[in-house]
Amino acid sequence: MSDEPDGAKLDGHHAMRLETGVALINALTGDHVHGRAKPSLAGHDLARAAAEALGDQAPGNGAVDLLAAQRLRDLASRLREIIEALSRSEHDSAAGLLNRMLADSRARPYLHRHDDRSWHLHFHSPEADLVQQWAAGLAVSVAAAFGEHIPHRVGLCAAPRCDEVYIDASQAQIKRFCGLTCQNRVKAAAYRARVRRSGP
Ligand SMILES: [Zn+2]
Repeated sequence: MSDEPDGAKLDGHHAMRLETGVALINALTGDHVHGRAKPSLAGHDLARAAAEALGDQAPGNGAVDLLAAQRLRDLASRLREIIEALSRSEHDSAAGLLNRMLADSRARPYLHRHDDRSWHLHFHSPEADLVQQWAAGLAVSVAAAFGEHIPHRVGLCAAPRCDEVYIDASQAQIKRFCGLTCQNRVKAAAYRARVRRSGP
């Protein structure tokens, strides 16, 4: 990676899909966020969270039904498992999980054309429903980012009691926290510990 001047870049579609994948993981899975316990979602709340994570990629009416939301949460849990394995540098196990996900999602390249738009590459069959589409697309995009990228690019927040997943798109790839909230939390805790140690 370091001997490539521009850094190896991920194709724009994959990068966009990964962002939605991370949004789904953070919205639908994890027990803690920024040091606080996270309520587990059910029913309408789960469906709403799934729709929000999909954003403008949600189905036409912007709504996700409960069954689809539950399946999206299962998908997000599998992705989290892969990212957790990567964050422990267990690349073999992450690759195994990812290969299984590729097989289960029956991902395959397929050129598609919506009415007036140009031909473009999908990774799901034309009959796939919303969740099958995301399962196939995310499996392929995570796989495309695998190897030299993903262990650095997608990470787990290093702060205590935070399960947030982040994408590190920076060249230096030194991001360790989901955001400033956790970074400041950890800094403040380290400061307090120093003060305690140097105290009377
Ligand atoms: Zn965090």
